[in-house]
Amino acid sequence: MVENNGELSTPRDMSQQIAPEYRDMILDYLCDHLDISVSVLDHDLNYQFISSHTYKQLKIGLEELKVGDPLSACHDAMFKNGMLTPEILSKDNLSPAEQKASNKSKVGMKRKLLQLGDGTTHSFVRKTLSNGFTLSMAEDVSELVETDEMLEESLMLGKSGYWKYDLRSKTYHLSESLKLYFGPEGLKKIHTNGIAAVVVEEDRKVLKDIIKNLMLGKNQALAKLRSRTHDGRIRWSHLTLKLVKDPSGRPISVWAFVRDINHEHKQEQALEEAKDNAIAASKAKSEFLANMSHEIRTPMNGILGMAELLSGTKIDTRQKEFVDVINNSASALLTIINDILDFSKIEAGAMELDPVPFDLKSAVNDVTSLLITKAQEKGLEMVINYPTAMPSRFIGDGGRIRQVITNLLGNAIKFTKDGHITVTVSMPEPRDGICCIRLDISDTGIGIPADKLNHIFDKFTQADGSTTRVYGGTGLGLAITKSIVEMMGGRVSVTSEIGHGSQFSIQVPLPLDPNAKAVSFDVSSLQGKKALIIDDIAVNRQVLKEQLESWEVSSDIACDGVEGLNILKRAQILNEPYDFILLDYLMPGLNGQEWAEMVHKNQTVSSPPIIMLSSCDQSVSTNALRDIGITNYLVKPVREKRLHEAVVEAVNLFNTSRLSSTESLKTEEQSASEPLVVSELEAAIESNPSLSEAAPQQKPSEISIADDISSILPETPKTVQEERISTKSNAINENSPSNGKTQILVAEDFPLNQDVVRLMLSDSRFEPIFTNNGKEGVDRYIAENGNFPVVLMDISMPVMDGYEASQQIIKFEKANGLPHTPIIALTGHALKNDRQDCLDAGMDDYLTKPVKQSELLEKLEYHTTGGNLAAIAV
Ligand code: ADP
Repeated sequence: MVENNGELSTPRDMSQQIAPEYRDMILDYLCDHLDISVSVLDHDLNYQFISSHTYKQLKIGLEELKVGDPLSACHDAMFKNGMLTPEILSKDNLSPAEQKASNKSKVGMKRKLLQLGDGTTHSFVRKTLSNGFTLSMAEDVSELVETDEMLEESLMLGKSGYWKYDLRSKTYHLSESLKLYFGPEGLKKIHTNGIAAVVVEEDRKVLKDIIKNLMLGKNQALAKLRSRTHDGRIRWSHLTLKLVKDPSGRPISVWAFVRDINHEHKQEQALEEAKDNAIAASKAKSEFLANMSHEIRTPMNGILGMAELLSGTKIDTRQKEFVDVINNSASALLTIINDILDFSKIEAGAMELDPVPFDLKSAVNDVTSLLITKAQEKGLEMVINYPTAMPSRFIGDGGRIRQVITNLLGNAIKFTKDGHITVTVSMPEPRDGICCIRLDISDTGIGIPADKLNHIFDKFTQADGSTTRVYGGTGLGLAITKSIVEMMGGRVSVTSEIGHGSQFSIQVPLPLDPNAKAVSFDVSSLQGKKALIIDDIAVNRQVLKEQLESWEVSSDIACDGVEGLNILKRAQILNEPYDFILLDYLMPGLNGQEWAEMVHKNQTVSSPPIIMLSSCDQSVSTNALRDIGITNYLVKPVREKRLHEAVVEAVNLFNTSRLSSTESLKTEEQSASEPLVVSELEAAIESNPSLSEAAPQQKPSEISIADDISSILPETPKTVQEERISTKSNAINENSPSNGKTQILVAEDFPLNQDVVRLMLSDSRFEPIFTNNGKEGVDRYIAENGNFPVVLMDISMPVMDGYEASQQIIKFEKANGLPHTPIIALTGHALKNDRQDCLDAGMDDYLTKPVKQSELLEKLEYHTTGGNLAAIAV
């Protein structure tokens, strides 16, 4: 085939690898089986060798091309089958003349990609051998080229590319896309000075650092940097670098995948800006809310305050009706305003929780007490089931929890016509000091349709659109409740049956108050005693039974008066008398009072002292009750402490009367008609002039008498601070004006609010000294040398606000060694931070407008009689 002096005959001695007799055989085999076409042309471009694959690759027949044929014969065959066209021939310089010229130039190896007429691409290598022959080899690389094109296309579409840096040859290789990205200029810089040359100066260090990190062992590194592109613009790109190592672990190259992220970067920046703007807007919204809160509450203060005062004056029934309407409408408006403000706060993300130690049991009781009047008006029974053994002190936002309970309980009352409402509190075992408190509020009301259940927690949603007219409401309450509970990490749920009632449940995780002191009751006088519980509601009976058991009192239960009477009679026959009776007032058929009356009149049964529990505060005189053996009349929800007191009193009374009946120390008549407790309480009230004056206004319920009693009980030792305050208030009283009233300093700029305070205090022992702004307040305080027992301080005032005025007052006190005068903030701001701001400014207490007369008087009394300042701040 080829002479041995040519390159084809291999210049090297291959005898070590191939035995000479096999050489031709192997060559034939390779040429036939490799997917590469091989051909050799002599000086005159006549074929000397044509491998069999050549025919296949060029799609020509064996008869069309033979050894000895000229190159043109091959071209003719290819023209015929369309593999070659005149354009391809001239474009790729394939004509025999051009090929001869090229051979003469003695250029060594020439490699090019040829695209033939059928669209296939061939990698074509032509080499002029030393004997002047031409060796051609061609491989169909269509697939490879297509893959490569796809990769480049994808990189272009994805605005990405790659570069590779060979650490050994110190050369860069770039994807086509990157070559276009950086342009010829940039490319030149990269090849001369490295990739950093196209990176903007400020970001070069970033690049340097990540390359350094790679070298120090990181296999991959990411960076965001700016580089200058082909048109001179600066664009952000994202770089992923990878270090490639040889099998021995030596780094050989760095690969970089580059993605242009200029657009994303701009979007990110715009988003960041939008976020900042949103935060600023939300802040502005919160501030607006705070102001709105103030602006709305201030005139509301005027309306509510005046209406309250007006209702206390001599007005006829018709006028009283008008005032009541004003009062009710204004209160309703205030509730709506509060809801809207709360809701806006939640929407603005401005609502914050204020977790402090609080008493959950008191919260439940307080809310129930507040709403009980509404329930009474509808004749609804309220039942609270707070297990006696369950702790009551937790850490949480007690105020917000009260709000949630108020809302759910308020709804329960609103949507229930008759029956009862039960509040059940429970909790599983605490985990790591955290209790998952569950509060179920169930009613026997109208219920909620199943298809509405999922939506009632949405804002402005009511189960029935028409309820707005029938029941009123904004549809915000449950949305607020849900948000608050979820902020606390809890959840709300509801089950309901149309016509039978609903149960709303909340579950909130609350840490136990680690400083809570266990409340224990002295049960020494109760151990082994026996009680009879008469109540028509099973939950009530159960709660009372459990409560008594915790005081070691056993009990029997009866679910109505008749059963109660039977049990009582049986006990008498067996000579196992009860020590006292817990008797419900509101029962079907015979109510509690009627039952007691009947038993009292009945000569055949003797009854132990009766404690009557009622959810309605009806006007029955204590004497009338006492006459029928009811020693205590407790309004539900009954505080545990109060019930304990009543039970102890009843047991003592029973012991006394038994003693007197056996030992005849007292006449039977006396002991029955003068129950010890009641007469004691009355005697106590009479010995206290201020309380006996207040007494006619009070309802005859035992609860209110007992509550007031606490103020005449022996005083607990005063703290130093309290001592100073009381000394001071005594001093002031000495300086009181001739009307005998205690002068208090009030800084308030709004004339209407001044009127409200003036009128609210007109019948009290306080006389307000008004100043029109903080500055005037401070001046007056200094002028009087701090001789005021208490200061009422508005917050938003012209010239000097309440915060600064308070600080100035405190400064003056310190400078002059004066005792501290309690300052009560009086403000329309009702946001959480405002309270803290007031306390931080040195104020001692906080009243939100619209202020209620009773609250104002209570605070003034508290602070002028040496209240415990530390307790108020909580
Ligand atoms: P509002 O009571 O102001 O309408 P809420 O958000 O408190 O708004 O309640 C949304 C709706 O859910 C109420 O309008 C009522 O249709 C329904 N709903 C709430 N509580 C009860 C309940 N205890 N019984 C029946 N329906 C209730």
